[in-house]
Amino acid sequence: MSLRSISFAVFLVFLALLPQLPVPEFWITQANYIGLYTLVVIGLVLLTGVAGLTSFGQAAFVGLGAYTAAYLTLTFGVSPWLTVWAGLAFTGCVALLLGWLTLRMSGHYLPLATIAWGLSLYYLLGNIDALGKYDGLLGVPAIQFFGVALNTGRSFFYLLWTLVILAIVAVTHLLDSRTGRALRAVKGGTTMAEAMGVDGFRIKVMAFVLAALLASVSGWLFAHFQRTVNPSPFGLKMGIEYLFMAVLGGVGHVWGALVGAGVVKILEDQLQVLLPKLLGSSGNFEIIVFGVILVLVLQYARDGLWAFVEARLPKVNRKVDWQNAAPLSERARPPRGEVVLDVQAVRKEFGGLVAVNDVTFQVRAGEILGLIGPNGAGKSTTFNLVTGVLPATRGEVKFLGQRIEALPSREIAKRGVSRTFQHVKMVPGMTVLENVALGGHLRGSQGVLASMLRLDREEERRLLREAERQLVRIGMGDRIHELAGNLALGPQRLMEIARALCADPALLLLDEPAAGLRHQEKQALMAVLRQLRGEGLSILLVEHDMDLVMEVTDRIVVMEFGTKLMEGTPADVQASPAVRAAYLGTEH
Ligand code: ADP
Ligand code: MG
Repeated sequence: MSLRSISFAVFLVFLALLPQLPVPEFWITQANYIGLYTLVVIGLVLLTGVAGLTSFGQAAFVGLGAYTAAYLTLTFGVSPWLTVWAGLAFTGCVALLLGWLTLRMSGHYLPLATIAWGLSLYYLLGNIDALGKYDGLLGVPAIQFFGVALNTGRSFFYLLWTLVILAIVAVTHLLDSRTGRALRAVKGGTTMAEAMGVDGFRIKVMAFVLAALLASVSGWLFAHFQRTVNPSPFGLKMGIEYLFMAVLGGVGHVWGALVGAGVVKILEDQLQVLLPKLLGSSGNFEIIVFGVILVLVLQYARDGLWAFVEARLPKVNRKVDWQNAAPLSERARPPRGEVVLDVQAVRKEFGGLVAVNDVTFQVRAGEILGLIGPNGAGKSTTFNLVTGVLPATRGEVKFLGQRIEALPSREIAKRGVSRTFQHVKMVPGMTVLENVALGGHLRGSQGVLASMLRLDREEERRLLREAERQLVRIGMGDRIHELAGNLALGPQRLMEIARALCADPALLLLDEPAAGLRHQEKQALMAVLRQLRGEGLSILLVEHDMDLVMEVTDRIVVMEFGTKLMEGTPADVQASPAVRAAYLGTEH
């Protein structure tokens, strides 16, 4: 058994024994609050830590769960075992609507929207007569579990912590899956994820709803634990506190949620006793201390407290269990010589700048087409037009006979176009293997629930086997367990190529793949490109290393100032005075 599983087992035993020990009731109550908070903060780990979306509104979702439970039980006598589902359904719908409205917009819109949402729910709850206004609903009954009333802190403890552990396990599973990789990939921009076929908007909404559902369960438990609900624990102050717990514990780690919730809850109580003694009067001084701590954490320990624990745990490589998995099915490749990509008079203007000026070229199956030109010639922009990252101002792009210029990039990826980026885009905190498996996103289909329940393992093995196969092919078979962020630039580029290949494309677009590569790596890259061409793949290659371009391409398109200067074989291009002039920057 590994140290991690031993620690987990010890933790479970500790939880099972705690209520049986002569621990003062105060500490059982504390532990229960920590559990309630942990559920909410796990959602924030997914949302903020993993997907990069900041929410101050989680307390409001807790409120929806709590009020639904309290209202239905008190008014209609509905069993708590049913109200929890009602709360989940209601919270899920509200979160879906809010997410759908706000997640399309970028940057700071979501945090602001969640603040507005957190504030308005608080005032709404406080003004509804049926919900007891600011006094709330009193006398919520205890949950009955097979005839036993969970009306003591100790009996409630077991139900609560069972759910907390289930949530921790489910979210840990989710993060280690096809969906989890996609979720990590949308942090800080969806361009790369979309190029791998991930629906960035959808996956963000999914994370938002999931986080809201966890909060809702916490609210249900809260209502039956406190036996009363009123608006104050569901306001903006608590929303900020949840986020504080997540940041303090470590937004990227599921266990960080537990650490953050635990430290904040215990600290808060101690400070509430200590600070008035020190300062001689009472007030919410702990808020000031929390603010100072938050600044310190952000300054000196950006990854939160759990990162310190994590760094001291022995690093375990993922167990290689995919060697015997069935290979993934492969796309039928177009016959050699057929036109795969047909770019007709495509144009891109950025304000007054014409970055791509009515450029026309074709790529055929089993051919490597070089796209060269001085810096700023419009090569990367052409890539972005072909892959749907940017909309064309006008012109036509056809892939295997179908128009694609108006499609979003994930649709283009689905049709068989895969690419790398001039500036490497990856998930630095994932291993090389996981980054490459992200390229296989469209070749899998298992979703959130299957991942949480681990019903996705067979497909996962097939995906990882494919990812490893592509890494071996590109000469990185011995680095699969390394963190992508720790690689040098050259290997990062190779990893991107493996990721693009993992998508089983018919057309591969490589934007300066050899930049930062050493001589031997370049030789290996050339060998791989030739091999891929031999397999019938079409490649569009942007590259500044002229030796490589001349050696490996079949034809070359030369661009200058957005315009196509010439097209021909490597020999034609080398002999052209116009091309030489363009590179030397002289008039021709
Ligand atoms: P290359 O890849 O050939 O070096 P690019 O396609 O990156 O060239 O850029 C072509 C021109 O378009 C450059 O002048 C660049 O400054 C401009 N450009 C590229 N992207 C943008 C953008 N998003 N907004 C405005 N101008 C851009
Ligand atoms: Mg470029």
